[in-house]
Amino acid sequence: MQVGDSGILRGGYDCFVVGSGPAGVSLALALAEARKRVLIFESGDEHTVRSELANTVGYGHYSGAYWNAHWIRTPGGTSNVWAGWCPTPRAFDLDNPAVGVRWPVTRSELVGYWKRAAPILNHDAAYIEFEAPLIPGFRYRPVPTPPPKNFASSMATLKASPYVDIALGYSVVGLDADRSRSTVTRLEFLDHRLNTRGEFAVTPAQTVVLAAGGMGNAQLLMLPRADGSVPVGNEGGQVGKYLMEHPEFQVGGEIAIDLELDRYWPAAHKGRGVHAIVADDDTAREQGLYGCSLQCTRKTTDHPMATFLKNQTGRPFYYYSITPRAEMLPSAANHVFLTGERDAAGFHRLAARCVLDARDFLNVELTLRALGETLMRLGKGRVRVNNDRIYKQVWGGGHTMGTTRMGQSRSTSVVDADCRVHGYDNLCVAGSSVFPSGGGSANPTLTIVALALRLADVLAARK
Ligand SMILES: Cc1cc2nc3c(=O)[nH]c(=O)nc-3n(C[C@H](O)[C@H](O)[C@H](O)COP(=O)(O)OP(=O)(O)OC[C@H]3O[C@@H](n4cnc5c(N)ncnc54)[C@H](O)[C@@H]3O)c2cc1C
Repeated sequence: MQVGDSGILRGGYDCFVVGSGPAGVSLALALAEARKRVLIFESGDEHTVRSELANTVGYGHYSGAYWNAHWIRTPGGTSNVWAGWCPTPRAFDLDNPAVGVRWPVTRSELVGYWKRAAPILNHDAAYIEFEAPLIPGFRYRPVPTPPPKNFASSMATLKASPYVDIALGYSVVGLDADRSRSTVTRLEFLDHRLNTRGEFAVTPAQTVVLAAGGMGNAQLLMLPRADGSVPVGNEGGQVGKYLMEHPEFQVGGEIAIDLELDRYWPAAHKGRGVHAIVADDDTAREQGLYGCSLQCTRKTTDHPMATFLKNQTGRPFYYYSITPRAEMLPSAANHVFLTGERDAAGFHRLAARCVLDARDFLNVELTLRALGETLMRLGKGRVRVNNDRIYKQVWGGGHTMGTTRMGQSRSTSVVDADCRVHGYDNLCVAGSSVFPSGGGSANPTLTIVALALRLADVLAARK
């Protein structure tokens, strides 16, 4: 049911979920299926995008306006504007020595959850394992682009569930813990309509899950406390660090190749997608490359690069423009942090510092060069590297990752492999903020939903 004017009065929840984007909704629906009682808090309400809470300052390659446009405070969260692309990381992407962090979850553990997540995202699970050899050293790995699911469309199901209550127009604005910092004991919220504050006592048997987006999860774990003590969940001082995007470089390269990429498209699979070429694991390992998907569009046989090669060889060549989408090295210097100013909910204004490493640019240039050199050696084509675009015109995918990352211990990460905040029995995080790396160049949401389903399994097993 939706919490109305009577306020949030039904007790007995097993789980409080903060946020109703893909992470929060998928988690709540899975918990409801396991007959766990859930209360979702969502800042936005049916008529309001709470843009007054979107006032981040940005330093580096992405502006404050950029981050604000990529973290939408309304039912369904950022899925109101996302594009629906659903690739998955390869095993090597989760444990690439060039990136320097290993995910505490392996690809084979994730596959089953990606398959469960696929129908939730209108996605054909057959793509999860699909890739094909293209030329030595490189593989064809298309990016599936199913119609983007807006999780606001799940509100009716949530409201109809006897296990789920949803508080629209309520922001969570405070967390308290016991003295030993092992249990969250209190959750404070703001009712935006009435501009009043309220609170819930949280018992050790109840779990609080932050699913407030890549910026919002960190914001909640950095909330200053009245007594000046360390914010709940940030005892290791790691919250907010390792902010990452998936940088994207429009027309960063161009290719003329004697292979028509449509032929590699998996005919048996449903749905749409974008052609993409990636270095295989051996090439990446040898050259120290990390996630970079060379996304090929705008096919023509008419471009001078293609006609030149056709005239030389007598064979047809196909021209594509390449938009590389890449991974950033996780760096503690890239972070979100609180400024002194407050927003409408009383939150300290967020600032985001995100600067690509010189190696992040070079990784893209080298991946393109390696492909070009291989094509030339085999007499199968050419690549043009547009460094003016790579080094000067970086954009991104609206992916906010890394700010509460998963890992082995509190000194290097915020949550454990189950997405539970280190040291806490009843505080968890759902969303791409737990990603320890970009997971290669794969857009995050399929993995966000998969990890939410995995967390639901962990919480459902809790007595
Ligand atoms: C333009 C664009 C295109 C994109 N395209 C793709 C794509 O093709 N493929 C892909 O995988 N990803 C894409 N993304 C990213 C994708 O949208 C996000 O990965 C996804 O929405 C994150 O889900 P989430 O549930 O973790 O967070 P969000 O969707 O951001 O949801 C968080 C929710 O928490 C609520 N909230 C925040 N703080 C509080 C609080 N204190 N109290 C209560 N509620 C709170 C917010 O209002 C929001 O509803 C795109 C993003 C953008 C902006």
